[in-house]
Amino acid sequence: MQQMRTKQTKGTLAAAEDRCRREGAKLTPARRQILEILMEEGRPLGAYDLIERVAAATGKHPAPISIYRALDFLLENGLVHRLASRNAYLACAHGHEEKDPVVFLICEKCGAVTEATPKALGRDLASLAAEEGFKPRAQIMEIAGLCRACSE
Ligand SMILES: [Zn+2]
Ligand SMILES: [Zn+2]
Repeated sequence: MQQMRTKQTKGTLAAAEDRCRREGAKLTPARRQILEILMEEGRPLGAYDLIERVAAATGKHPAPISIYRALDFLLENGLVHRLASRNAYLACAHGHEEKDPVVFLICEKCGAVTEATPKALGRDLASLAAEEGFKPRAQIMEIAGLCRACSE
């Protein structure tokens, strides 16, 4: 199980590097480290949790601004999502287009988050926006509740 997860993390990290290369974005070691922490965690972390993780890994406390800068870069390049309801960050598991609608199922008990990019919902939202003459920039839904394990 642990091994599978590590493999998946590596695959995703390689995909992230590819994506940056294609778009001419520079995944510096500091940015990469934040992405790696979020990928390994597999659930959302706040900026201060990230500072603690970096401090634990490097033995030095990073300045909050450097963490926020790295997060801004990762957000801009679609590698990380911000969960508004939690003020926390989550590695993107899908490598979808920036404009794709994203649904987060957030467990209020254990904090697990599932990311989904449902195509049918995307079509519904596109026609809704078209009817209203509205141009969506971001389509992110956060649904709170209980995950399968916690509701059993
Ligand atoms: Zn995503
Ligand atoms: Zn749960």
